[in-house]
Amino acid sequence: MSSNGYSSSVPLMENFVGGKFQTSNGPVIGNVTNPATGQVLRQVPGSLKEEVDAAIAAAQEAFVSWSATPITKRVSYMFRFREIIHRRLADFVAVIRQEGGKTVKDAEGDIIRGLEVADYACGFTGKVEGMFEKNIATDIDMLQVREPLGVCIGICPFNFPAMIPLWMIPIALVTGNTFVLKPSELVPGAAHLLAEISLEAGFPPGVFNIVQGGKDTVEALLDNPHIKAVSFVGSTPIGRIVYQKASMKGIRAQCNMGAKNHAVIMPDCNKELTLQALTAAAFGATGQRCMAISVAVFVGESIGMLPALVEKAANVRMGTDENSDMGPLISAQAKARVEKLVQSAKTQGAKILYEGQPPSSKGNWMGPVIISNVTTDMDVYNQEIFGPVLVCLQVQTLDEAIQLINSNRFGNGTAIFTESGVAARKFQSEIEVGQVGINIPIPVPAPPFGFTGSKDSMWGDLPFYGPTGFAFFTRPKTIVSRFKW
Ligand code: NAD
Repeated sequence: MSSNGYSSSVPLMENFVGGKFQTSNGPVIGNVTNPATGQVLRQVPGSLKEEVDAAIAAAQEAFVSWSATPITKRVSYMFRFREIIHRRLADFVAVIRQEGGKTVKDAEGDIIRGLEVADYACGFTGKVEGMFEKNIATDIDMLQVREPLGVCIGICPFNFPAMIPLWMIPIALVTGNTFVLKPSELVPGAAHLLAEISLEAGFPPGVFNIVQGGKDTVEALLDNPHIKAVSFVGSTPIGRIVYQKASMKGIRAQCNMGAKNHAVIMPDCNKELTLQALTAAAFGATGQRCMAISVAVFVGESIGMLPALVEKAANVRMGTDENSDMGPLISAQAKARVEKLVQSAKTQGAKILYEGQPPSSKGNWMGPVIISNVTTDMDVYNQEIFGPVLVCLQVQTLDEAIQLINSNRFGNGTAIFTESGVAARKFQSEIEVGQVGINIPIPVPAPPFGFTGSKDSMWGDLPFYGPTGFAFFTRPKTIVSRFKW
């Protein structure tokens, strides 16, 4: 073992700076392990401040010519980039499954949803239009253009190692910015593939860069005086720190953060479809989706569906292959945290209706859990669990359900299950949540729409991708001209 904690028997993740893979001299901050087996796969260095500064310097240098590269040419790089991702889908699926313990379907979804944002970015030409007014005053013309910002940085969570970097990179690059990505230290492999692909696609050196690391590396990125924008996706406490630091520097940030997504089950819902949707949305991806349904709010007599819900949970297939519904949790720490929250529900007076058994004692497996008799003062209701746990509450009216959800500090996603257009329309109008599903449990916006959120789920005014994504990565400039006097 070397002085920085590096053991030569396990590969060390590399940085990607100025078009070259580089070994960091920083200390090893952790291992990437296979969550299904506990096998150590790779080590991750905490990139040092000078390495972070070098990555930003490379991006700054590249910005000069990249921002001046014609739009059509920048887009043609993006076309090549998305073609190669498409060709290497199997490589992404393999690394996402290995590092994140995802099922085949979830790993495919991870890269394909990201690829869709790259597709959208390929249609950039003509999407960011300026304004022009001839004779806004006598013989004076006014022009407004949108220009790229400069070096932008991205800080990513563990749960979508391909999709979330791809929420950021394609739009940042086609608009003429250069980018430094800090992948999650738990799942850095997909970002490494993106670096390889950027090389093959021929992006000029320094346009896209990666630094590995955790907290200290993020701090070094945020402290660098040359960054112009921060894209962050992760938990609420960290997102707040990132947003505050960016704001204090006077630069823009888009921070998508934690969630507590409620599903409202009306008595008139289609019972079978609702049960299937709830089961998939609560336990799919082991509850580790920011859009997972983690709270079921039964209105009136719909509470009678609980025994059938338990039956569905008991049929969830645990594993990581083609036929599996749910894999392991990302880490031993995550598993311990979820188990502690389930225990707190027991001691605080809730009822554990169902607790599935893990299929293996190795890795971070945990079965689905359904908790009823939950009240809003319990930890299991107030904290984001981010595990395969569905907490259930009962209210008597839709008004009460809406009030409950609007009083929650998170505002990421929500859903209502009903056959009544009146109830659905009332819900969609009165609910204060970013993404709303009507008989759709996980209403993730497609790339032309932008992924929004409110309250403690999103800080910043310009959501990821969609037209707001283009606005985030560009700044308006107004030119007033007169050539006659
Ligand atoms: P996390 O907040 O622990 O980590 C996110 C990133 O922040 C990582 O790259 C990590 O290295 C870095 N980081 C960790 N501690 C830091 C610190 N003290 N200072 C600076 N940087 C730090 O999140 P996670 O556990 O990787 O991801 C799960 C969270 O992400 C959940 O809360 C989930 O809801 C959220 N999420 C939200 C969305 C959304 O769109 N709203 C999407 C996906 C995930």
